Amino acid sequence: MVRPVVELDREGIDRLIAQLGDSGFTVIAPTLSDGTISHGPISSSQDLPVGWTEVQDAGTYRLTRREDDALFGYAVGPHSWKRFLHPPEVVVWQGDGGMTPLDLAPPPRYAFFGVRPCEMAAISIQDKVFLDSGFSDDVYRSRRTDAFIVEVECYEPGGTCFCASMGTGPGAVEGADLVVSEILDDEHRFVVRAGSDAGEEVLAALGAAEAETDVIAAAEQVVADAAARMGRTLDTDGLRAALTAQAQSERWDEIAARCLTCANCTMACPTCFCAGIDDSLSLDGAVATRTRRWDSCFGLEFSYIHGGSLRTSAASRYRQWITHKLSTWWDQFGSSGCVGCGRCITWCPVGIDITAEATAMLAEARSEEAS
Ligand code: SF4
Ligand code: SF4
Repeated sequence: MVRPVVELDREGIDRLIAQLGDSGFTVIAPTLSDGTISHGPISSSQDLPVGWTEVQDAGTYRLTRREDDALFGYAVGPHSWKRFLHPPEVVVWQGDGGMTPLDLAPPPRYAFFGVRPCEMAAISIQDKVFLDSGFSDDVYRSRRTDAFIVEVECYEPGGTCFCASMGTGPGAVEGADLVVSEILDDEHRFVVRAGSDAGEEVLAALGAAEAETDVIAAAEQVVADAAARMGRTLDTDGLRAALTAQAQSERWDEIAARCLTCANCTMACPTCFCAGIDDSLSLDGAVATRTRRWDSCFGLEFSYIHGGSLRTSAASRYRQWITHKLSTWWDQFGSSGCVGCGRCITWCPVGIDITAEATAMLAEARSEEAS
C-alpha cells in the first residue's frame, strides 16, 4: 500500500503537535530535564531540545549545544518509552476493607512524538512480551492500544549506538503511525510519511503539500550517512550459540569483578520487562493495594526460591542478563532482546559495554571451535 508522504517546515511540525493535542492525546516527546534529554509533555516544537545534542560513551553522558536549531539532533537519553507503557510503579489492583475492587483512574491517551527507530523496535518487542506471548497484560494494553506513535529517523547516532548492527535503525522500522525525517541543509524541513490509517488521517487533516522526490532522496541520504557514523558495531553472526556455549567461561568472573550489580542497565534498557508485586494495607485497614514495580535480574532476591537464591554471584547474574538479551530471547520471543540503543553502556557507572563483552565471548567460542 502506498501511503502519503508530505513535506513540512517547523511551523507545520507545530501544527502537527497542536493537532494531536486537540485530538485528545497527551503529547510526550524528548525534552531537556535534569541535564539529560528525557521525555515529558509538550505543546509546541519549542519544548523539544532545540539546538542540543549529547556526547555519549561508556559510562559517560553530557549535553552540548549544536550549531543549528535541529529539533532531533541527538540519539536517546537515559529513559525509554517503557516508562509510559510499562510504568516503573503502577497500582494494578485496589480494594476497600471488604476487598471490593475500587475503580482505578484510566491512563491518558498518549501520542509519543520523537520515538527513535531502535525505540520503535523496542516497543514492538514489548508488544510481543505483554500482548502476544500467550497472555495479555492489562496495564500495558490500556496504554498501548490507543497510543499514536510518531517515529523520527536518526541522523546523529550516539557514541554507544549500534542499531545498524541489530537491524533496528537508524532508518525507520515498522510500527509507527507517522515517520518523520529531519533535513538540515540550506532549508530546515521535514519529510513525514504515514505508516498507518490513523497516521494517514492525521496527515490529511494537516493539509500539507506532497513531498517532492528530491526532498525524499535528501531524507534517505541523511539516514545512510548516520548508519556510516554509528558509534559501535556488534557482530551477531553465531552470537546466539556462542553465549550459551560459553556458560562456563572464566570471563564471567572477570566481568563480575567490575560489575556493581547496580541494575542500571536493566532500568535503562527499553526491552527489560521484569517486575515484582507488593501488597500493602493502609494503616486504618480501609484500602488494600497491589502495586507492580520494576525488578532486575541483577538483584540477589530476583532468583529467590524457597531456601535461597539461585544466582548468588555477580558473574551468574551478568551472564543471565546478556545471555537472555542476545541469545535465549530468540527462543522465548523469536527475536533479539537487544535493539542496540546503547543505554546500558552509557548508563553503566563502570562502563561495562555489552558489545565488547559479547564480542569477547564470540571470539572465545570461535577460538574453541577452531582448536
Ligand atoms: S553491568 Fe553496569 S549497569 Fe549493569 S549491573 Fe553491572 S555495573 Fe550496573
Ligand atoms: S541491552 Fe543495552 S543496547 Fe540492548 S536494548 Fe537494552 S539497553 Fe539498549
